[in-house]
Amino acid sequence: MPKRLLLVGAGHAHLTMIRDWSDADKKDTEWILLSPGPYHYYSGMFSGLMEGLYEKEDVRVELGPFCRRHGGSFLEGAAVKIDYRKKQVQTDRGDILYFDAASINIGAKTAGASAGPGAHVLKPALEVPDTVERMRFAERPAVIGSGYGGVEMALSLQA
Ligand SMILES: Cc1cc2nc3c(=O)[nH]c(=O)nc-3n(C[C@H](O)[C@H](O)[C@H](O)COP(=O)(O)OP(=O)(O)OC[C@H]3O[C@@H](n4cnc5c(N)ncnc54)[C@H](O)[C@@H]3O)c2cc1C
Repeated sequence: MPKRLLLVGAGHAHLTMIRDWSDADKKDTEWILLSPGPYHYYSGMFSGLMEGLYEKEDVRVELGPFCRRHGGSFLEGAAVKIDYRKKQVQTDRGDILYFDAASINIGAKTAGASAGPGAHVLKPALEVPDTVERMRFAERPAVIGSGYGGVEMALSLQA
């Protein structure tokens, strides 16, 4: 029986690992990637998206084909509960996934902020293309947070 590896979250580490994992090392392993949406958006290109240098198709990985190309499968859903004793993960869509080993790479959320009418957060990044679109066409857009990401986004917006 192949062992089942469950990769929770399509973060950078998981996508790189899937891409670089050799066929020999994957032998006897069945793996599944779980992530809330069909795409993973690459944050290093968000500013270029804001500036209009890229289209949204340029800055994302389509997870289903990516997984199939590398010999695994993809399931859409967010992990809401992990039971290590029973070795199972429950998703927000009601699926129960069993695993022999699980790896978690679900990224971070923007601290202390919540999206509301007219306010959008960049992390998690599922809605980034919509956020960027709204910001680009807003009459008076404001970027809150002066970390590298905020400054980069503000300058791109100005450009
Ligand atoms: C505007 C901006 C620009 C940036 N530019 C750079 C840069 O140039 N270079 C750099 O090094 N860093 C940059 N960063 C920081 C970088 O985005 C993060 O450090 C990096 O994304 C963290 O990677 P990660 O794999 O941990 O998570 P993420 O890239 O956030 O990936 C997490 C994945 O897990 C999924 N997920 C979330 N919750 C669940 C769940 N419950 N169940 C299943 N899946 C889930 C998400 O949908 C996502 O696909 C930038 C950030 C921003 C906001």
